[in-house]
Amino acid sequence: MRLSRRHTLAGAGALAASAAFGLPVLSPAQAQAPAGAQAPGFYRYKIGDIVVTAIHDGFGRRPLEGFVRNAELADVKRAMAEAFLPQDALQITFTTLAIQHGGKLTLVDTGNGDSGAPTSGTWMANFKAAGLDPKDVSSVVFSHFHGDHINGFRLKDGSAVFPNAEVLVPAAEWAFWMDDAKMNAAPDGMKGAFAGVRRVFGPVAKDVRRFEPGKELLPGLTPVAAPGHTPGHTVFALASGNDRMMIMSDTTNHPALFVRNPDWSAVFDMDGPQAAATRRKLLDMVAAERMQVAFYHAPFPAVGFIAREGNGFEMVPVQWSSAV
Ligand SMILES: [Zn+2]
Repeated sequence: MRLSRRHTLAGAGALAASAAFGLPVLSPAQAQAPAGAQAPGFYRYKIGDIVVTAIHDGFGRRPLEGFVRNAELADVKRAMAEAFLPQDALQITFTTLAIQHGGKLTLVDTGNGDSGAPTSGTWMANFKAAGLDPKDVSSVVFSHFHGDHINGFRLKDGSAVFPNAEVLVPAAEWAFWMDDAKMNAAPDGMKGAFAGVRRVFGPVAKDVRRFEPGKELLPGLTPVAAPGHTPGHTVFALASGNDRMMIMSDTTNHPALFVRNPDWSAVFDMDGPQAAATRRKLLDMVAAERMQVAFYHAPFPAVGFIAREGNGFEMVPVQWSSAV
């Protein structure tokens, strides 16, 4: 790697950090954002020797009314007010993880691609701003098959976004969504989700690797069954050295509502009572073990810890650090 004196002076710390982890190095020009634009949405941290990059895919707005199945709107509004959030609609954010371990680059979920709300779809720009290249992705691991997690794998025109990646999916999730009888029996409102799964995975169906929970999938990454949100919804323990983190996927939607009130169910939870039981069990466990957690729908960079609070829990974000 050749560096000009200007590069070296401009970002010696960042360059040293990038070089140490074998990451491509950004030039100052690449790192520039136009005035008025938000900072690039990536955040890097380490779990032992594993480098994790949280990659933001923007947000979707969802009216608050009807969002929580088993709570009064007034109570939901109160929870929003307590978290200093608006009373009419919720900004649901999307944060995927890129994991660098042993020279490999693994993604956990892929964001909305070009199929989401107009305020989403920032994933690729942020991924590239983090110095990462879709061609270098060796594995894509999916937590479950909702569109905001899988559509980034294949654009609307059918093109594959990660041409060199092996695809790993929860066996229970595959069994449910690829079952034609389940699709035919589903209410009309859900048929689109089945079609979406077939659109994304159809072309690679014969190569997809289906995994069961409990067995290490990739170095340091072990799937844990977390059913309820969807039948095969999966969370992942990430471990290296003495460090551990639980990748909580959609165990909760926004923490201000569902970490705080774990018995509440979002409309996206396919089996509300089962999702709530899973949520309590996992939140209890990570709180007791003081284990770091990453959520898909928590405020960016969507990483922190869980503390017990009253009858529920509180998410405590990590302190943002300029050092990886
Ligand atoms: Zn989701």
